[in-house]
Amino acid sequence: MKSVGLFGGTFNPIHYGHLAIAEEVRSKHNLDKVIFIPTSLPPHKEPEDLADAHKRSVMAYLATVSNPCFEVSTYEADRGGKSYTIDTARHFYNIFGEKVELYFIIGADMLVEIASWKSIGELLDICRFIAVSRPGYDVRKILNQHYLSAQSHSTASKILERISIEETAMLDISATGIRRRIKEWKSIKYLVPEPVEQFIHNQQLYR
Ligand code: ATP
Ligand code: MG
Repeated sequence: MKSVGLFGGTFNPIHYGHLAIAEEVRSKHNLDKVIFIPTSLPPHKEPEDLADAHKRSVMAYLATVSNPCFEVSTYEADRGGKSYTIDTARHFYNIFGEKVELYFIIGADMLVEIASWKSIGELLDICRFIAVSRPGYDVRKILNQHYLSAQSHSTASKILERISIEETAMLDISATGIRRRIKEWKSIKYLVPEPVEQFIHNQQLYR
C-alpha cells in the first residue's frame, strides 16, 4: 500500500456529495483506499441536530460497503468528546508507517478553517491535503485571498506547499439541506444511498 485518503466529517448524514468527491479523489490521486472518519463532537454544531456518533458510523458503513476501496473508521466515534484531526492523523500514521503517504480530504468550505486547526504545522508534516471544490465556494479564490496573499506567514506558505486542489464540479448536496428536508417531510431519495435513507427513517433521525 502506498497512499491512503483520510476523510473526516460529521457525516450527519453521509450523502452522495461525500461519496462522489471521495471516489473522484481516490481515482485521480491513485489512492489505495479512502477511510471515512465520522467525528464525535464537532465544534460549532447544534448538538440536538447531531445523530449519535455510532449511528452516523453505521450510515457511513451502509453507504460505503459496496466500494472495496472505501473503509470506515470509528476511531473518533469510539474516543468520544471533541476530536482533533492531529490526533487522528497521528493514529493513522502510527498504523501505516512513514512509507504510506497520507492525504486528508476536505471540501472547499473547510479551506479557510484549517489554518486554525490544532497543531496544523505538524498535521501538514504528517499528511498532505486535498481540497475539493464545492458548489458555492471558489477554491482558487479562497486560496488566493487567504493564503497566497499571506505567504510570509509560515502556516500559509506551508498550507500552499502541502495542499492540492481538485476543481471538478461536484454535487450541490449538504447534510444541512438533507436534515431540513426530513423535517419538512420531503423526500431524500437520490441524495443519500437507499440503505442510508431506510436507516434514517427506521431510526426516525432528524425529525
Ligand atoms: P453540514 O451541512 O452538516 O455541515 P456537510 O454536507 O457539509 O454537512 P460534512 O460532514 O460537514 O457534510 O462534510 C465533511 C467533509 O465533506 C467536509 O470537508 C466538507 O467540506 C465536504 N463536503 C460535504 N459535502 C460536499 C459536497 N457536496 N461537495 C464537496 N465537498 C463536500
Ligand atoms: Mg459541513
